[in-house]
Amino acid sequence: MEKGVGERWNDVGEEMKYQITKKQCQESIRGICSYCGGKLEPIETVDNSGNPTFWVGCVPCGVFDNGTDPKTYEIAKKAGNGT
Ligand SMILES: [Zn+2]
Repeated sequence: MEKGVGERWNDVGEEMKYQITKKQCQESIRGICSYCGGKLEPIETVDNSGNPTFWVGCVPCGVFDNGTDPKTYEIAKKAGNGT
């Protein structure tokens, strides 16, 4: 189950109320993916209460990520702080 979590909301036929709109999410993006250094974008999902929302994440990594500063990412990479 990777996509379509929010699709059932379309069937309800009522106004879709996002906790965070795509635009708000887009505007909140700061930096890059802390996993791959790639571009972050709004991903449609549901919050803990089952309400549709958009969270910042990295599609290729399949993760939600608030973003990291490109410089921080470079430093962390150089430090070899991984497995
Ligand atoms: Zn990524």
